[in-house]
Amino acid sequence: MIIAFIGLGNMGGGMAANLARDNAVKAFDLSEVALTKAVQSGCSKADTVAAAVIGADAVVTMLPAGAHVRSVYADVFNHAAPGTLMIDCSTVDVDSARAVIAQATEAGFDMIDAPVSGGTKGAADGTLTFMCGGTDEAYARAKPLLDIMGKNVFHAGAAGNGQVAKICNNMLLGIHMIGTCEAFNLADKLGLDAQTFYDISSTASGQNWSMTSYCPAPGPVASAPSNRGYQPGFAAAMMLKDLRLAKEAASTARAATPLGAQAEAMYALMEAAGEGGLDFSGVMKLIDGSL
Ligand code: NAD
Repeated sequence: MIIAFIGLGNMGGGMAANLARDNAVKAFDLSEVALTKAVQSGCSKADTVAAAVIGADAVVTMLPAGAHVRSVYADVFNHAAPGTLMIDCSTVDVDSARAVIAQATEAGFDMIDAPVSGGTKGAADGTLTFMCGGTDEAYARAKPLLDIMGKNVFHAGAAGNGQVAKICNNMLLGIHMIGTCEAFNLADKLGLDAQTFYDISSTASGQNWSMTSYCPAPGPVASAPSNRGYQPGFAAAMMLKDLRLAKEAASTARAATPLGAQAEAMYALMEAAGEGGLDFSGVMKLIDGSL
């Protein structure tokens, strides 16, 4: 299959490399550095969106935000052959995802939104989780390509529902993490050490993923970022992006998300303190006063 891949940054670079093992991948990015790396990993270089898309059976994009996705697809739609499959893997606002897929449908293309979790390691290893939105037909066509780049692939329903699944999950994760920090900090201040509290709470009703996989208190979970100075992992700045997308979507949908809004404010404080590059579990430093 001939695949146009647009956006070969930290995530897209690894994803395109995996596709290039069994497909002809034509890569386009505004960054020469990203393009050079893509060529080294088996892609061919395209000088424009048009050059990448012309002759391609499928287009895959991994771009920073909704504005980039809207502008790149305006170009893609002008040059893609009828029947070209389109997969946007970027994490973007729900409105942009739905608007671009509606334009694709209107122009006769199958398109899905397919944001991911799993980070740069998952992208490089081909073990990403994909959350997809779009028609059954578009999803069925995209699935074989997603299976090359990922390990878990979910069809979440209609266009935009991939983004909905991603921001709702990450809003919950952000809230859980802050609550977990508060509990460990309070335990410590009251004279209960982290390991003993962990042993009790991780087998009681306070148990959650932020505690058992990414424990924000150093000690109990050896592999957690808290044991390496909160190096990511999943950066606080990325969590902040997802919480902002959740807040925007909640406002449009008139859904009450008071704890999501509070979590967003906490991660904004972390970024303002110059610590957006720390793992999101580093929000512990805000709670314990060490930031
Ligand atoms: P990145 O900044 O490393 O890569 C984005 C790439 O897009 C860059 O190389 C940039 O030059 C390119 N680009 C921007 N505008 C373009 C345009 N108009 N035409 C062509 N190329 C263009 O970002 P990333 O970390 O790879 O993240 C990409 C997406 O994946 C984001 O939406 C992010 O939220 C999501 N995501 C990232 C992670 C992560 O751990 N990094 C995890 C899950 C999801």
